[in-house]
Amino acid sequence: MDLFIQSNLQNKLANYLQQRGYKKITIVNDCNTYKVVAEKLLNNLSNYFEPRNHHYITPPKAQLSKAQSLAKQLKNVDCLIAVGSGTINDITKYAAHLAGVPYISYATALSMNGYASSTASLEYEGIKTSYPATQAKAVFIDLDIVSAAPLELTKAGVGDSLCRSTTQADWLLANQLGLDDEYSSEYFNITLEQQLIDNIDGLLSGDISAYKILAELLVFTGQAMNKAGSSKPASQAEHMLAHLMDSKYGGYHGLQVAVCTLTIAQLQQQLLANDLKPSISRKYAKLDDYFTNEQVEKFKKIYASKPKNIDLNVVDIKAIKAVTLGHSDLLNIYNKLGLPTTSAGLGWDDGFYKAMLDIAKYTRDRFTFLDLH
Ligand SMILES: [Zn+2]
Repeated sequence: MDLFIQSNLQNKLANYLQQRGYKKITIVNDCNTYKVVAEKLLNNLSNYFEPRNHHYITPPKAQLSKAQSLAKQLKNVDCLIAVGSGTINDITKYAAHLAGVPYISYATALSMNGYASSTASLEYEGIKTSYPATQAKAVFIDLDIVSAAPLELTKAGVGDSLCRSTTQADWLLANQLGLDDEYSSEYFNITLEQQLIDNIDGLLSGDISAYKILAELLVFTGQAMNKAGSSKPASQAEHMLAHLMDSKYGGYHGLQVAVCTLTIAQLQQQLLANDLKPSISRKYAKLDDYFTNEQVEKFKKIYASKPKNIDLNVVDIKAIKAVTLGHSDLLNIYNKLGLPTTSAGLGWDDGFYKAMLDIAKYTRDRFTFLDLH
């Protein structure tokens, strides 16, 4: 994958397409990204290419059916260019995969880590599912454009990055328990993450060098998922919880992940401080109160497949603590950037949120701190 993270990349795109020999180009955009940059790209590329073509995604929703319909319309196309962030990329990536056409990603906001990843997250019958797709041939992150994007989108990208802490702790726990030998610290870039934390002010003031750090971190994580062959380096308990909340409320993925990360960080911290024994006894939510019979059966099957009699004495608590950001450290960063810190901050019902916290462990066969709770 070729990667360009710099200012003023519009001309570079035309050169790149020429070098690669792509002549028949289709740009995929929505109404917003058309105004932000796709219109300019089309005009610019029309000096080099004929026929020029573009495809609107309306409304911009990451649905499987939109990717399928785009793929059907792709006749005689050399290359697709996704101009947008999460939704446009997921649709284009999967359409490119279905049609066997290469695609290029031209980022408009640093809201998620999927630019470099080869999976597409798309909704089918109301449920978001991850589909294997095509990795971009090239990712263009124009720092002038992403630093001018709405701050909410940048905040979402930070939220989807800072879950590194809870994700790594969960995966390391499973590894130490002998349940997952795929774990490696190489999938995490704590140095870059620290640079991001040190440059939160820069994100708020539109400083291009701060946006460069966030861009590099998001791309690093996308590539880590490709290397690992799964979303494990970027998605553990906090994502299981976020996905449950997403199916009821929708909204920006990274902001959902931010709130859920804070909750999971607190839960991990309590368990680690208490030799992994739950410190409070709780009344657990019932699956039947929230899901259809079919979903309940599916969740019970997943949960039944998880190991039960595990020996927690083998866990190196110190080693896990060493890779985590404390709950209060996260809270300070969130407050500085203006990220939501509570379920209410995203308009979520707190009772429902707490119920989903109990239920999240049933939704995926990954062993996390939620399984100790
Ligand atoms: Zn994510």
